[in-house]
Amino acid sequence: MVGATYEGPRCEGARCARATRLRAALLTAVVISIVSGFSRTAFAQAGDLDPRIVKLVASVSEERLGVILKKLESFETRSSLSSTTSTTRGVGAARQWILDEMKSYSPKLQVSFDSYQVPPQGRITRNVELRNVLALLPGRSPRRIYVSGHYDTVARPGGQGASNAGGPARDPDTPAAAPADPNAPLDNLAPGVNDDGSGTALAIELARIFSQSGIDFEATLVFMCHVGEEQGLIGARLHAQKAVAEKIPIEAVLNNDIVGNDRGGNGIVDGATIRVYSEGPEDSPSRELARFVQRWGARYVPSHKVRPMARPDRFGRGGDHSAYDQLGFTAVGFRESRENFTRQHDVRDTFEGISLPYLAQNARVNAAAAATLALAPPPPSVLSERNQPLITRAPSGYDANLKWNASPGAAAYRIFWREAWGPDWQHELLVGNVTNVVLPNMQVDDYVFGVAAVDAGGHESFVAAYVTPPRANTPIRTAQDHEH
Ligand SMILES: [Zn+2]
Repeated sequence: MVGATYEGPRCEGARCARATRLRAALLTAVVISIVSGFSRTAFAQAGDLDPRIVKLVASVSEERLGVILKKLESFETRSSLSSTTSTTRGVGAARQWILDEMKSYSPKLQVSFDSYQVPPQGRITRNVELRNVLALLPGRSPRRIYVSGHYDTVARPGGQGASNAGGPARDPDTPAAAPADPNAPLDNLAPGVNDDGSGTALAIELARIFSQSGIDFEATLVFMCHVGEEQGLIGARLHAQKAVAEKIPIEAVLNNDIVGNDRGGNGIVDGATIRVYSEGPEDSPSRELARFVQRWGARYVPSHKVRPMARPDRFGRGGDHSAYDQLGFTAVGFRESRENFTRQHDVRDTFEGISLPYLAQNARVNAAAAATLALAPPPPSVLSERNQPLITRAPSGYDANLKWNASPGAAAYRIFWREAWGPDWQHELLVGNVTNVVLPNMQVDDYVFGVAAVDAGGHESFVAAYVTPPRANTPIRTAQDHEH
């Protein structure tokens, strides 16, 4: 537009000189506004994609995922209630191998057990030590981004297929008949290669590629292998409780559970999409994280379609993302698009049920989302000190006036909006390093608005939306109330 080919209207004499001066002044004004609005050089040079993230995403290895899955299968069971004495079979051998494997990737990774002594309760039938295995890749900031799966397994007669065929959707994790001796280890065969060897292998593989990438991340990344999921999200709940108690700043959790099979039990095959579940309401932080995964997954892995699901999880099923969400953290759950229920919670959940190309695509989407989040500033707060959304109709009384609190490290902000009836952002506008924007004559009541923080390299946070907090009900007294 500012190019040299622009001729402008023909003119003569003094009129012409005036027009030329005006045109020059206008062009100067445009340029000045660009330069002063935000760091022009950074945005002019950077495309939407960070070449380092492109390289990171490309380094996901199908072969490595296959090696990890076969190793996990070799433990025969990884039930949280299985034996811990063998070095080759059961949950004790499995967790030690996961720990040693992740330790081998890079001295930058801080790999440890996250251990808890858990007395009998619910589906925990005896005293047991539960150990999540986590690998922490320190960033410049303590803010944490999690990529997770659960390494524990379960198998019951009939498996999930029998549960599904048995009538209405119900909790699939109800245990079978209680063992005669509750203190005996639960050592029946439970290979769990897809549930949830797939999510575990994904988290382990991302621990490898992130720690070996040479990228200096802003946020701290945590690659987490949970335990106790099949007993009621126990490992995730314990870790989330600890995070609340110790004020560990978990910013986002990308949980993967059953993400390695592309062939539905009904024969329908879909290896090109992945479902992402999140707890509502519709503009909750978890929903914004799901939209973020869709947005950045589509940029870095355009061949794989992210399908956000506006519900916490599948009917009657649960996953570790909910343990975090219920304690106030932002979390989503990745689920393969076409499940084979006859293999789940069954001795048939073996390596033969895995599509490595499909699992690798899901790993690439996770890598793109986690890397972008870990390089971006945190999402800005759009709440006042009194927890009210910073949105007004000022100055005219008919405008959309958006304010937000500056996010550390932000070089610009991107505002988003959509009709108040609709799930996906429809419009976006990159604004400079400001904390206030007015959109004249935009009725705040007719749109949902949000804002994301963007750094000088174009890395974007997930969106913080302007949401009215629910109002408490105020019961109205009547005259009759007094007469009683
Ligand atoms: Zn699972």
